Amino acid sequence: MVKSWNKDWRAGLWTDLKAADTEWDMIIIGGGITGAGVLREASRRGLKTLLIEQKDFAWGTSSRSSKMVHGGLRYLTQGDFKLTHEAVVERQRMLDEAPGLVEPMKYVYPFRKGDFPNRWAFNFVLRVYDFFAGRRDYRYFGKGMVESFLPGILDNGLYGATQYTDAVTDDSRLVMRVLQEAQGEGGIAANYMKASDLVRENDKVVGLTVEDVDSGESCQVRAKVVVNATGAWADRLRGNLIDEKRVRPLRGSHIVVPSWRLPVHQALAYQHPKDGRFTFIYPWEGAIVVGTTDLDHKENLDLEAGITAEEVDYILEGANNQFPKVKLTREDILNTYSGVRPIVGKEGVDADKMNPSDARRDHVVWSNDGMITVTGGKLTTFRAIAIDVMKAAGPHLHIGKVEDTKDRVFAPVLKKLKGIALGPAQERRLKGFYGSAAQGIIDYAKPGDLGYIPGAMNLWAELRWSAAYEAVSHLDDLLLRRTRLGLLLAEGGLCQIDRIKTIAQPELGWDDARWQQEVERYQSIWSEKYSVPAA
Ligand SMILES: Cc1cc2nc3c(=O)[nH]c(=O)nc-3n(C[C@H](O)[C@H](O)[C@H](O)COP(=O)(O)OP(=O)(O)OC[C@H]3O[C@@H](n4cnc5c(N)ncnc54)[C@H](O)[C@@H]3O)c2cc1C
Repeated sequence: MVKSWNKDWRAGLWTDLKAADTEWDMIIIGGGITGAGVLREASRRGLKTLLIEQKDFAWGTSSRSSKMVHGGLRYLTQGDFKLTHEAVVERQRMLDEAPGLVEPMKYVYPFRKGDFPNRWAFNFVLRVYDFFAGRRDYRYFGKGMVESFLPGILDNGLYGATQYTDAVTDDSRLVMRVLQEAQGEGGIAANYMKASDLVRENDKVVGLTVEDVDSGESCQVRAKVVVNATGAWADRLRGNLIDEKRVRPLRGSHIVVPSWRLPVHQALAYQHPKDGRFTFIYPWEGAIVVGTTDLDHKENLDLEAGITAEEVDYILEGANNQFPKVKLTREDILNTYSGVRPIVGKEGVDADKMNPSDARRDHVVWSNDGMITVTGGKLTTFRAIAIDVMKAAGPHLHIGKVEDTKDRVFAPVLKKLKGIALGPAQERRLKGFYGSAAQGIIDYAKPGDLGYIPGAMNLWAELRWSAAYEAVSHLDDLLLRRTRLGLLLAEGGLCQIDRIKTIAQPELGWDDARWQQEVERYQSIWSEKYSVPAA
């Protein structure tokens, strides 16, 4: 059975799937953070588990989030103590287990006369937040200090700001790392394989039809339990079993600008002047990200979500309101990205008729005819979500009561990397992003690969290794999700395409015609969904 993404893994797995008269313990549909987390928890329990993803790993919402690993202060202000407590605990666990991949980030929230929340209300909420984390972290600064660390910040009655700490990650690398840990314990994850139908016997889901998206071939596979972890797409498969629409897709978009255009070294949280929504400007992978919006997403879910011209204007308006002298314009934007959040309404209420204020903010787990559907939630709480899924799956698997053993998700990488002289932060990052594979990346590097890609925090060696060993099927997998060059570099990384070609083409084994085809595909994805739409 294929266990890792070596050169021939896809053909090998497909042969196994077609030939197999075996039954899987669990098949997970959806290769975002939720599916990856379930694969991790199932494989550590010795279950024979397969995850399939219709596009690329993390192609859905899990590569398009704000990338914050946070307790969700907003949920606390809405009285959701349980969700905030769970998220704060999971945040701490990720910081402890995956340094370099999940790093602390300071946040500041400025106060202006007449605004709510004011200093006292905000600090009260932070006291509860810190209590959940078992620490006292938040700190108030007066106006002079705020102006020194946020030069150019809007005055307009500014009297101070509170600073607190949450964390930040690279969301698609988080998915890859969790998949890698699961594979280490026997889990199997395959991208570009779609669940095109469910197989039912006696009103029970006993398997599914899997389609190899690139070849169009399909076959049936059987499982003791099928988990539908398809996020915003969850109603689709569940719709085969129950006539109910519970998920409402809401789009959130971000812009990415070069760090020299906005003077923030920590995340700035503020209320948008138009509608009072909380919005953020924050450093990420050497650039600055601004977002997000929150809008009903009515477009076809099969296509990538993209930012609209109105959303660009809204985000720029918010940033320029906070930094009036910066005068950020569309020309400053390097790239954009949009994700679709699955918002779940109350039971018995059709998702389209839901009042957004009634929407649940935590995850839900439903069971219909033996298929377990999980949707909603956050990146931050993926482990807790996976445990809930395992608890629901337990009876189908006859494994007794499933307990949360609180075992590590991420194995520690203790040995110092050999063959490269990195600073402590760079070494921590490489180990955090790639776990036990970090040394392999250095060992696999060719001359010139151990330099940094201009404008990014990646070594060229990471690009080479991902092309060779991380199940890359298309150039967009490599530039948008294995690395984030598509979000961080001008023209989505096309400015570096010649050097990328010399490294990636031989590793992927593509001839010139295929390379050209992939570049054209990438150009079209980038210009339609990751660039700046015309005003
Ligand atoms: C704008 C925005 C900002 C956010 N910011 C944060 C944040 O800062 N911190 C945080 O903790 N959370 C954040 N979130 C929430 C977080 O991103 C999501 O909760 C999380 O990514 C959902 O992961 P998922 O695996 O459930 O869904 P997804 O990542 O969407 O994965 C579902 C996958 O299922 C696949 N799929 C669908 N149908 C099929 C099929 N038939 N066969 C095979 N595969 C299929 C899809 O292709 C998709 O890749 C944010 C969300 C949004 C939209």
